Amino acid sequence: MAHTRGKAFVTATEDIYAGRKPEHSWGNSQYRIDSEGDWGSNQWIYAFENPTPDKTITGVEIVKKDGNVFMFGMTASDVPAHPLRYSRRQKALLELKGDPRNALDLIDIDLGHIMSVTPQPLYKNAVWEEAAAFGNDWYPGGRNGKYIVEFNAHDDAILYLGEDRTPLAVKDIAKNPDIFIPPAEIYVTLKVCGENGRPVPVKVHAHGTGGEYLPPRNRHRIPNPYWFEDYSTDYVHGDHLCTYIDGTASYLLPLGEVFFEVSKGFEIMPVRRRFVIEPDTKEITIHLKRIVDWRSKGWVTADTHVHFLSTQTALLEGEAEDVNVVNLLASQWGELFTNIGDFTGSGETINANGEYMVRVGTENRQHIMGHISLLGYDGDMILPLTTGGPDEAAQGDPVEITLTQWAEQCRKQSGLNILPHFPNPRAENAAAIVSELIDGVEVTPGWGGNFASINPYYLSDWYRYLNCGYHVAAVGGTDKMSAGQLLGEMRTYAKLDGLFTYQSWKDAVIAGKTFTTSGALIDMRVENQSMGGTINLSNGGNLTVMWDAASVTIPVTAIELVINGDTVDGAKFDGLLGEKSGYFTVNIKESSWIALRVRGKTDGGPEIITAHTSAVFVIVDGKPIFNAPDAVTILDQIEGATAYVKTLGTKAQESQFKLALAALSGAHRALHNKMHAAGHFHNHSPEDIHSGHEK
Ligand SMILES: [Zn+2]
Ligand SMILES: [Zn+2]
Repeated sequence: MAHTRGKAFVTATEDIYAGRKPEHSWGNSQYRIDSEGDWGSNQWIYAFENPTPDKTITGVEIVKKDGNVFMFGMTASDVPAHPLRYSRRQKALLELKGDPRNALDLIDIDLGHIMSVTPQPLYKNAVWEEAAAFGNDWYPGGRNGKYIVEFNAHDDAILYLGEDRTPLAVKDIAKNPDIFIPPAEIYVTLKVCGENGRPVPVKVHAHGTGGEYLPPRNRHRIPNPYWFEDYSTDYVHGDHLCTYIDGTASYLLPLGEVFFEVSKGFEIMPVRRRFVIEPDTKEITIHLKRIVDWRSKGWVTADTHVHFLSTQTALLEGEAEDVNVVNLLASQWGELFTNIGDFTGSGETINANGEYMVRVGTENRQHIMGHISLLGYDGDMILPLTTGGPDEAAQGDPVEITLTQWAEQCRKQSGLNILPHFPNPRAENAAAIVSELIDGVEVTPGWGGNFASINPYYLSDWYRYLNCGYHVAAVGGTDKMSAGQLLGEMRTYAKLDGLFTYQSWKDAVIAGKTFTTSGALIDMRVENQSMGGTINLSNGGNLTVMWDAASVTIPVTAIELVINGDTVDGAKFDGLLGEKSGYFTVNIKESSWIALRVRGKTDGGPEIITAHTSAVFVIVDGKPIFNAPDAVTILDQIEGATAYVKTLGTKAQESQFKLALAALSGAHRALHNKMHAAGHFHNHSPEDIHSGHEK
């Protein structure tokens, strides 16, 4: 064998996060293990057994037979077994003292290899099967100073633990049940079946008694959660590691207890099962149960915002998360262009039963003006993908286009215009909405972590536009850019008229028949109008707001009635699961918008805003919904965008520069006129005093 040992290392990014200079380039660091020996300059070692150990060696004679060799050295050993032959992979749960950022350096071995050193995830194995107590978002928190160490070794090897290198004989590990983790060596097939008894795509996690992650044989043992580093089919939720399978998977499992978790979106009960693996176990099966079925009522789910995955991986993850429509978005990031070859300008990638599909659109981005997702448009890719310089466009790229112009072009190509992670970055969102070119805004947690609350600040900015009569739908998208983000964690429910096609999904979003959610389902009707609709009243009056709610994965604690941004009524629940209906009665005196906001709380978690409906507009006596103070802040924002293009943004060629300014001034004028028509006057900022108006 080669004279040097293989050596485990961490990825380049993990080195950087630990404050070290990376030892390997990014790609090569994904191996996590050096090949044995150094390419090109290997020397070789071998061990001979002394055939007559009872005799004293007095000398060694080396005889040349054919060709020359260099001989560098010789040593002796008294280990009974071949000293260069090591065991299969073994695991132990060991306490290692020292800097946790350098986990691999906290242990060494003399005759063997260390493969990985990972903190022990603290699972509640004793109550593992009580799935409902954990919801969809349960993962092990905390650290106890113990690590799962994976190694292979000679029988007589010694491990050296912690920074003080306390010795531990490998032989002694199996005798100590507190540190022994049984090796994963039993070949077992997992089948996860839907209600028709056939395998269905799911997200799956498995661990053993020590908390050690047990991946399928062809999945990452140590998934990489960093940005653009790995768009494998894995999902990393803190210490909780998962992967996506198509319904069957091949595993190597340890003897004894193993703990599986399978989930599939918001309408199917997540399953947590304990199995005992015997030497002859060949197959284990998990059956899923759909608790609520809103697809049968015409609803489809969508993630409006996914990056980097291949179309087929996006389809697998979409089906596994019960997300019917995945919008995969090509884009540019400085000098990096992603998913460009996946863009076809027509058609979807669709699964066998036609229930799940992926459509490639683009996210066109500018770091000050804002981002806009152009979904499902036909024809040529709308360019530029990014504009105005770093860190979205490349250095020196001028502000050659505005969101408003991108949105106009997307409309011409029959696409859907979504403002992602609304309202950030925010300068030009205002102009695009006021120009009535935006179909939906992503009302999400932002980048605040998986299954976090819908951001109240994001909500308040959306309310501002509703308050000024801009009927923009709420949608949910994840901006998934790594294995650390969950496709469909925040999703859009849209209610279709008729058959499910990508076009009928787009039509439902344009009509505003949507709600956005991280778990709870909520439908609202005001009298006979569904979300997105408008009711006309000649005078005010009493209206009935009916709701249907359902939740499988997050207990609902409140449903709140929101009118013009204020919470005017609500129903409280002690952790509602399953389905329930109810209504509120409201007296409407002036033109208003009505929506429902849903709060929920998992065991041990904070109460969060988990869902929000799109609005129903009520127009009284033909008067538009309008709120002057909000309109002023929207005008401010358009003025800010205009000032940016005029003074700071890298200037485009004259014709483009003029068109960009025209798009902004057109939006400004539209809202400004609306404001004056409604009889509201305000102080004009000096940049934008128009002829015909006195300050
Ligand atoms: Zn973005
Ligand atoms: Zn994005």
